[in-house]
This record gives sequence, structure tokens and C-alpha cells, in this order.
Amino acid sequence: MRRLAAALALIAVALLAAACGKEGSPPVKGPKPEQLPAYQVATGFQLPDSPTWSAARRRGHLVVGVKEDQPYLGEKDPATGTYSGFDIEIAKMMSASLGFDPKTIEFRTIASANRETALQNGQIDYYVGTYTINDLRKKQVGFAGPYYIAGQSLLVRADEKDIDGPEDLAGKRVCSAAGSTPLQRIQRDYPKAIPVAYDTYSICVDNLISLQVDAVTTDDTILMGYAAKAPDELKVVGRPFSKEPYGIGVPRGDTALRLALDDALTAHEKNGDWKKAYDATLGLSGVPAPQPPPVDRYPAS
Ligand code: GLU
Repeated sequence: MRRLAAALALIAVALLAAACGKEGSPPVKGPKPEQLPAYQVATGFQLPDSPTWSAARRRGHLVVGVKEDQPYLGEKDPATGTYSGFDIEIAKMMSASLGFDPKTIEFRTIASANRETALQNGQIDYYVGTYTINDLRKKQVGFAGPYYIAGQSLLVRADEKDIDGPEDLAGKRVCSAAGSTPLQRIQRDYPKAIPVAYDTYSICVDNLISLQVDAVTTDDTILMGYAAKAPDELKVVGRPFSKEPYGIGVPRGDTALRLALDDALTAHEKNGDWKKAYDATLGLSGVPAPQPPPVDRYPAS
């Protein structure tokens, strides 16, 4: 009974915190549209060797896969349907470089477990959403980038005293997203933890607040966003225990598109767009802009 009362109280606090983000109350820190760069749309750009680009040209706009529930990275405003965050900015920079006005992008929310299929069956032209580059995934899709390097970490309730790092997870219920690298790492390297998988991290966070799980694990970038939005209820603990280089997912055979995106990333890092975009989005969760990692233009295989 006491447990239930505590859970209900926490949910009430969560709802209140969420409500405070709405109009008319003190704003939760969010992406600042007026500080975002305007990306120069390339004129006369052609990429005839890319089947993806050619199909988009015929269609008239790009279709880009993203996340919609990751604060400061990829977030959809439920009222307006507008997407914002660092990943969204990367998607827009790439669109401008490919000759498509970023305003015309059709964003589609795709969960971690469905990214490879979405790219393989042509549902999306490219994907920008905390997507770790690794060899296993490279067998199914291509990756431009990396454009950022995150690390796996842990999110717990603010009053948690027993969990400070992954070694403390024995017997604990740990939530992550199906099809994600953090879930795989917990299952492989911390077999005493009790993994719980949902489609999205926001469902994991709801379960953490309502005491259904003891921790949420994924990239520090994602977890810091949730913690920044509810600092009284949630905290990120310990040090990152993996390297998660973020790439832009493309259909596997489309090397022309992949290399064009690598070039575009390099150009936007050089001209300051990358840093400006970071400062106005992901930077708001508290970490100053790092140096962007070197782009890895790997050969076609
Ligand atoms: N970067 C990790 C991954 O690609 C976790 C974040 C996510 O699920 O998008 O699996």
C-alpha cells in the first residue's frame, strides 16, 4: 500500500513537471529556435549515382527517419508536430547539402529495433537518431559519420543509493530499448542484471518513475536529457561505459549517398554550423560542445 502511494505521488510529480513545460509556466530549457543556424540550400546539386537521392528528387523532398521522444536530440512537439533537437539539425544540414530545403523534410519516427528494416525497404532515405555505428549493423545498412560520440550510462531515481555503475546492477531491473546496443551490452556483460525491453526509452523512464524498474540504460546524451527535464526525480550516475559513435544510416548499397553525406558533415563542421546546432540543442543538457569526431569514409564493400 505504501509502495503504491509512493508510486502515485511520483507520478503526480511527473505530471506536474510535464505540465510546467507547457505555455504560461516557467519553461523547461529547450532548443532555442532563434539560435539555430539557417542552412544554405545547395543549388544545382546532382547525385545521379545515388538511387535514394534520385528517387527523392522525383518525389520533391526527403523522408528522414528520427526519434521523437529523446529530449535535445529528436523530440516531437505533440501540439504542432514539429521535430527539434541535435539529430534533427543534423538531418536538416544534410538535406540542405543535398539540395533539398530542410523545411520540406518529411520526418518519420522509427524506433531503434526498426531502423535497419526501414532503410532496407525504402521507407526512409536516411536515418538520424542516436544510431551507433558498428560492424554488425554495417552488414545491413551504411553509415555516414560519425558526427558525435556518446557513451552508455545509467539513469536512476534521484533518491537511489545502491546504483552507481553497471557493477551494481545484479538483481536489479534495468530497462532499455529493444534492438539497441545498450540492451545487448547489459545482456552480454552484466548477466546478473534483469533486462527489461520496451520500444522506446521514454516508456522505460515512465517505468522508472513508477518503480517498475530500478534503472534505465542507454547513451548518456539521451539520459541527460531526461534528467535535465526532471532533475528532482531522476539522476544520471557513474561514468559512461562504452563508446557509441553516432552515424547517419543510409541504404547499404548507396555508397554515393553515404560519401555525399560524409562530405556534407565535414563541410558543416568546418563552417561552424555543427557547433552552433549543438550549442542550441544537446548543449542545453549541460555538456559543452566537444570537437566533432573525424568522419570515417570507409570504402564500398
Ligand atoms: N546508440 C544506441 C543504439 O544505437 C542507443 C540509442 C538508440 O537506441 O537509439 O542502439
